[in-house]
Amino acid sequence: MQMEYQKLDTTGLTSQEAKKRLNKFGRNEINTTKKISKIKILLSQFNDFIVWVLIAATIISGIMGEKADAITIIAIIILDAILGFIQEYRTEKSLEALKKLSAPTAKVIRDGKQIIIDAGEIVIGDLIELESGDRVPADALIIFSESLKCDESILTGESVSVEKKAFSGKMNDKSNYIYMGCTITNGRALAKVVATGMNTEMGKIANMLQSIEEFRTPLQERLDKLGQYLVYICLIVCGVVTVTGVLRGENIYDMFLIGVSLAVAAIPEGLPAIVTVSLALGVQRMVKKNALVKKLPAVETLGCTNVICSDKTGTLTQNKMTVKKIVLANKEYDVTGTGYEFKGDFIENGVKRDILNNKNSTLHRLLEIGLLCNNSYYNYEKNRYVFYGDPTEISLIVLAEKAGLSLNKYRSYFKRIREIPFDSDRKMMSVIVTNSNSKYMYTKGAVESVLKSCRYIDIDGKVMPLDTDLKRKIIQMNDKLASTALRVIAFAYKIIDSNSYTEDNLIYVGLVGMIDPPRREVLNSVLECRAAGIKPVMITGDHKLTAQAIAKEIKIINSDEMVITGDELDKLSDEKLVSFIDKVSVFARVRPEHKYRIVKAYKKKGYVVAMTGDGVNDAPAVKEADIGIAMGIQGTDVTKEAAAMILMDDNFATIVEAIREGRVIYDNIRKFIRYLLSCNIGEVLTMFLSSLLKLPVPLIPIQILFVNLATDGLPAMALSLEGAEDDIMTRRPRDRKESIFSDGLWFKILNRGMLIGICTVLSFVYTLVKFNSDITLARTVALSTLILSQLFHVFECRSERQSILNLGIFTNMYLVISVLISFIMLISIIYIPYLQGIFSTKPLNTSNWILVLLCSGLISLISSLINYKRGR
Ligand code: ATP
Repeated sequence: MQMEYQKLDTTGLTSQEAKKRLNKFGRNEINTTKKISKIKILLSQFNDFIVWVLIAATIISGIMGEKADAITIIAIIILDAILGFIQEYRTEKSLEALKKLSAPTAKVIRDGKQIIIDAGEIVIGDLIELESGDRVPADALIIFSESLKCDESILTGESVSVEKKAFSGKMNDKSNYIYMGCTITNGRALAKVVATGMNTEMGKIANMLQSIEEFRTPLQERLDKLGQYLVYICLIVCGVVTVTGVLRGENIYDMFLIGVSLAVAAIPEGLPAIVTVSLALGVQRMVKKNALVKKLPAVETLGCTNVICSDKTGTLTQNKMTVKKIVLANKEYDVTGTGYEFKGDFIENGVKRDILNNKNSTLHRLLEIGLLCNNSYYNYEKNRYVFYGDPTEISLIVLAEKAGLSLNKYRSYFKRIREIPFDSDRKMMSVIVTNSNSKYMYTKGAVESVLKSCRYIDIDGKVMPLDTDLKRKIIQMNDKLASTALRVIAFAYKIIDSNSYTEDNLIYVGLVGMIDPPRREVLNSVLECRAAGIKPVMITGDHKLTAQAIAKEIKIINSDEMVITGDELDKLSDEKLVSFIDKVSVFARVRPEHKYRIVKAYKKKGYVVAMTGDGVNDAPAVKEADIGIAMGIQGTDVTKEAAAMILMDDNFATIVEAIREGRVIYDNIRKFIRYLLSCNIGEVLTMFLSSLLKLPVPLIPIQILFVNLATDGLPAMALSLEGAEDDIMTRRPRDRKESIFSDGLWFKILNRGMLIGICTVLSFVYTLVKFNSDITLARTVALSTLILSQLFHVFECRSERQSILNLGIFTNMYLVISVLISFIMLISIIYIPYLQGIFSTKPLNTSNWILVLLCSGLISLISSLINYKRGR
């Protein structure tokens, strides 16, 4: 690509000029994303009918004389709103930050060099480079193109890709332009930007796809529904409390205020906000671990995932290719050296060979094909070589440089006329190049694919027919190399004397075997997956034996599991595939469309599938998977668009980390649901039981609101920050249809809610009887019992499997601090004389405190001890 560019006026803009234009014309963005308005979020906190009823009732009570009461109630409502605001603002902010992270990038030529920039920084006049899978970042005129096709469905609705050509001087020919938001489906292009941001065709329609979708997760929706039911139940109970109070002769107005306050306290209005915050915070934690979640529901699905279908190259392996072996018709060479360093020798039968001065050799030809049938390149930047392109191709450049063949010399000596690009269906690539003497087709690719196009073989510089015997030997050699985990590429060529560029009648040259070591962390992640009941599956375009050898090394394949190839898949019906798909661990030599069938088959068998993908053709499979995962580095824009999650480091281990995080988030959501609901039931029951027993009202409105403020907000939020439990990755994946209240959670919630209510009423009655109907004291005792029961219980909610005595009280310091704050608040309203007046409380003596502690802590203590004894 570089070579042709140099012949055109393709230096692009200087970075200085680009900066000037950016300042003058603004960023290349579609401005439909609404800015988050703090005021709007704050106001939305009051967007609740019951809160307005409470405010209205309070204002009336203020007018009627209870001024301090009214002011405090309003203050509590405002404080509550601020808490809600902080939660929601944080959520919005973190979602905003994520959007920036997933902002698209673009390849531009600035100061004569190709660089990758934020697509928002593109300006008119910039030269952009595009290849198959790229999303076009701005409207641009094509200067150079090669087999270029573009999907313009986003603008035209037409799903068939359209052919595009380089500008030939004819103005206003749409086929010479590519438009922002469209995707390149085939070939490559160099184009000059003619419009950016709102001036593009897309800008005119102002219909840019958002990179993060904010729709609600299934769990959020279910909780919204639950919330609605709870509202009705609460309203009924509050109504009963109010009516029975009035029937008993209490003041109607007082009872109305109590009813409304109880409704405000009992309705778990914080629940959706905390669920969103914990999802959003989880997403932020995942970003730190290189997993960028684009669609929030994915976080929930991650916890249910039980199959991960992963690409091999770059995800399970390092994608740092190094050629180790070259095999010609009658010669074999070992190549020394590591990584991308240009140092290494060619050893034949233990003897070092000089390749550079042996120009007519077959090996020389192979190296030449490797250099020219190749789109990768390097620059010398800051005293080191920086490589751009596909590692398979880079390793071939490094191989040739080791022999002394210079990439830049060869690419200026040979002119490229045409390219038939590599694609994962054909599994090969060809170029037509000329030098001053002849015109050649140079081809490289998967051994079976190349052999199919070959009719001759080059043996020591002599061309002979390639008979079946020779073919068999080549395939045997290929299998031998592949079974030692080498990735094998075959090379071929022909001299061309016409303008027909078909890939046939080629002359076979030889094979190259390259290693691509597994990523170091992958073995552990695979073992972790298996322990967690998740099946890891390798899907690769590579050879069966290469795939199998690597799968064995990283334990993806067990002795009772099998490898299936794309060809074998073609022969299987969908039903047959479904019937034994869980016995397959490796799919080799597959084409992208196979991936789609594989996802479908797993889903049909009832699995929840995570599937990785990078190329354009992977997008359907990625979209079909329950969790579509795109590669952040290797992935094309189209795949990233289709995915629910992007792996910023392309690493398999990151998927496992994300699953772990998904499980933690779900666990934590259950924890604070358990806490919030049991507490709210406790509050409602306290009032309800007292009214049933015809007792005086145990808590006045301001006290009810105070309980809500002290217990609902901070401790529940702290629970959402709980770390992973020890067994998080040794449990089976959650069933997707499982209710959030499964495993007896409902029972735990109801049970504890009732106990909290009963104990609070007991403490209230006991104090009333013992202290000559001192209602203020009895209410203070009831208030303290209710609050402390919740503050003790919150520690139990930290785990459904382990006692807090096993977990350790101080292992979630956020919780310890939030409980301390709530406790200090309680002490303040009991002991600070000014607040005593407002909250109608009284100092408690030692015997009162003993009663409070017994009624609030005994149950938590006993149940923790029982669990501790059971070793949980
Ligand atoms: P993954 O494991 O992620 O599916 P892969 O690299 O194994 O990736 P493909 O990229 O589809 O799968 O490659 C399939 C085969 O095509 C390889 O085994 C190799 O023989 C050949 N091949 C790969 N890259 C090139 C290339 N740039 N030019 C020619 N042939 C290639």
